[in-house]
Amino acid sequence: MSLSHRASAITLSVTLALDARAKALADQGHDIINMSVGEPDFAAPKVVQDAACRRVQSGDVKYTPAAGMRSLRKAIGEHVGAIRGTAPYAIDEVTVCHSTKHALSGAVLSIVDPGDEVLLFLPAWVSYVEIVRIAGGVPVAVPSRADCGPDFSAIERAITSKTKAVLLNSPSNPTGYVWSADEVRRLAELCERKKLWILSDEIYRRLVYEGEPNLSPASLGPAIRARTIILDGASKSYAMTGYRIGFVAAPKEVAAGVERLHSHLTGAPNTISQDAYQAALVGSEPLEVAQMCAEFDRRRRWLIDALRGMGLAVPWPRGAFYAFPDVRAYLDERGTRGFCEDVLEQQDLALVPGTAFGVDTHVRLSYALSLDKIKLAAERLGKFLQAHPTRAAAASATR
Ligand code: GLU
Repeated sequence: MSLSHRASAITLSVTLALDARAKALADQGHDIINMSVGEPDFAAPKVVQDAACRRVQSGDVKYTPAAGMRSLRKAIGEHVGAIRGTAPYAIDEVTVCHSTKHALSGAVLSIVDPGDEVLLFLPAWVSYVEIVRIAGGVPVAVPSRADCGPDFSAIERAITSKTKAVLLNSPSNPTGYVWSADEVRRLAELCERKKLWILSDEIYRRLVYEGEPNLSPASLGPAIRARTIILDGASKSYAMTGYRIGFVAAPKEVAAGVERLHSHLTGAPNTISQDAYQAALVGSEPLEVAQMCAEFDRRRRWLIDALRGMGLAVPWPRGAFYAFPDVRAYLDERGTRGFCEDVLEQQDLALVPGTAFGVDTHVRLSYALSLDKIKLAAERLGKFLQAHPTRAAAASATR
């Protein structure tokens, strides 16, 4: 049986594959600590749950227009305008999607033609490369600074006559790096000068724990707003991963392109989640959100200290819920993939190898799980590192 080139060339998402493997091992009775997938361990806020239940019980769970319910598009447009300090996005500038991943793929399919290049800043989230490839585009990896911030000379060098867009993800998955306002401004100026789109994946925007909040390029004035495609959703800010709901907020031509695509590929997201998301967005922010962020912050500080205490270099993450330590001293020829396989097999601890994000030097730990589990995970990782001498120590022992 032969598959299309498209389907044969694509790899399964490493994060989702690892999460499935960790869960399967747990089902077989292994005492797994799963730090692989980035999924808040909190329940969605009460208003969200109530709205979902009300919709189910009304019996009115039907198709909605492909771009989503008008009331939700309005709520999203007002919400984005309020948090980004811009005029509200109009209803026709918003398309509701099944997730932020779905919003991103719709946006990429709407603006990228075969051969167009899209710049991705390394380390870059696992699905970016594949989504650009599915659209026939060419992902161009741009290295970052050692602290995981943007390297503008590398970005300028990577731009060619075929560059169509840059993909900004701040706070970043997997590093937790939050671009400073100056960095966002610089990128915006560059994109205006070179006439590029900015695909701005803002799914972690609410999860910034210190310093200046995350800035969207869209906040920098009408000219750059007209080049910015905001991709966001409910999963991380409202602990609504399983609801599968997100959106594109962009110039109306892009929002309409995504709507047309989705009208054939998927249809609108389910009505229950649309109502639930609307309940999260209207009025004041549900109290549970700030509580969840405070708890993530506590775990972040504890985990980074613990990893540094083990002698690992870890970029300080201002946002998201990942730690990204450098483990290259411990790697053999199998790289970070082999490291993660060994940690899973020997310590029942699931981590994500840096190769999933385009760098084979670091591993990702999600701290979206309880502090007790994080403490146990750190103990297991510490034991693993102690049992495996660094390459330098192994070399000097054989001399
Ligand atoms: N974005 C999350 C992660 O990186 C969820 C899983 C996925 O969609 O990749 O773990």
